[in-house]
Amino acid sequence: MARIVMKFGGTSVADLDRIKNVARHVKREVDAGHEVAVVVSAMSGKTNELVGWVQGTPKVVGANSPFYDAREYDAVVASGEQVTSGLLAIALHAMDINARSWQGWQVPIRTDNAHGAARILEIDGADIIKRMGEGQVAVIAGFQGLGPDNRIATLGRGGSDTSAVAIAAAVKADRCDIYTDVDGVYTTDPRIVPQARRLKKIAFEEMLEMASLGAKVLQVRSVELAMVHKVRTFVRSSFEDPDAPGMGDLLNPPGTLICDEDEIVEQEVVTGIAYAKDEAQISLRRLADRPGVSAAIFGPLAESHINVDMIVQNISEDGSKTDMTFTVPSGDVEKAIKVLGENKEKIGYDVVQNESGLVKVSVIGIGMRSHAGVAATAFKALAEKGINIKAITTSEIKISILIDGPYAELAVRTLHSCYGLDKN
Ligand code: ADP
Ligand code: ASP
Ligand code: MG
Repeated sequence: MARIVMKFGGTSVADLDRIKNVARHVKREVDAGHEVAVVVSAMSGKTNELVGWVQGTPKVVGANSPFYDAREYDAVVASGEQVTSGLLAIALHAMDINARSWQGWQVPIRTDNAHGAARILEIDGADIIKRMGEGQVAVIAGFQGLGPDNRIATLGRGGSDTSAVAIAAAVKADRCDIYTDVDGVYTTDPRIVPQARRLKKIAFEEMLEMASLGAKVLQVRSVELAMVHKVRTFVRSSFEDPDAPGMGDLLNPPGTLICDEDEIVEQEVVTGIAYAKDEAQISLRRLADRPGVSAAIFGPLAESHINVDMIVQNISEDGSKTDMTFTVPSGDVEKAIKVLGENKEKIGYDVVQNESGLVKVSVIGIGMRSHAGVAATAFKALAEKGINIKAITTSEIKISILIDGPYAELAVRTLHSCYGLDKN
């Protein structure tokens, strides 16, 4: 007997037939004698619709508006998961499986106060563990918890992954299975590159980079939690026949295992390619080249919650003036320019320029730590395709390259094949 947490994403619960199919996956594990908790997302498209409704309400003009009420945003957008958790419990009852739905506040899943992007602080798993011990399946609404103000708080887009891993850690599950519309983690988004290969295993650190650099298959926070709490997490497909051979394999289910790097025997130099759209570049021209100038720029931006990513400072030609270029999400450009304008005197620059619609393409692999020339290979391959590089950042296990938006897919394909990641 094992204890298993199964999470089903939006496309897996998109309609009643798919919910019945999910119930068959759950039944397989219950019939095998396991204790099961299930985490569900809203039906696909539902959360977007709910967010649209909130943003379309008079006076509510967006998250930065003084009228925007994040508590009511959460009350509205959390409702999608309430529906699917109830529907799945009903579908399980129809199969004679003892099941009960749970909302975040009922568990309870305690979060911090950051409505709309809350972090899970604590989960009291006692009730769920007791019920599971009595043979009842817990069907838990993902994406939501209870804030310190006793109000519903949501965990940010894609947050049901995080709900699932956090619950798996809280109930000390033997495994957390993230069921989605692809059958594992691929070397890059298989919808962009059909030659992408499914990975049998990927190291936590690599998955963390893949997710933070744009691969939305797992929410970043879920990978962090899996890494810290050593949750054995698999990404697998809900679209395979629930009763196909091997689907109920306890130790080696089909899909991709996210694990410690020591568990990976043959480590490639490059594991995957990720991309993030809607990046924007801002340049401050003819800045005073003096101590404190970076603090004067990035301090106020941070205070305004603007997430600055790549930063490039040019060498000063005359020792007194320099240029500084950095990237922010496209949606934050206006706000950033406003903040920079308000601080113009203090920073001391001549003009500010900006360009939106850029894409950041990243090459990720733990093997880079011990291999030279990985970046040079990327630069050469992109040059051969005539793709201009606007900025570069690197870390021990990743290289990120900023390019013009229209070249995104070509760049991803080019990098994918230049590191020999294409299948066959
Ligand atoms: P869910 O609704 O189940 O949470 P998501 O849409 O959030 O599913 O995530 C699954 C999607 O992630 C896939 O359909 C795929 O297009 C995308 N994706 C991006 N990068 C990768 C990758 N490296 N491997 C697998 N899927 C990826
Ligand atoms: N339904 C939420 C979203 O679309 C959470 C999730 O699916 O993980 O972001
Ligand atoms: Mg998702």
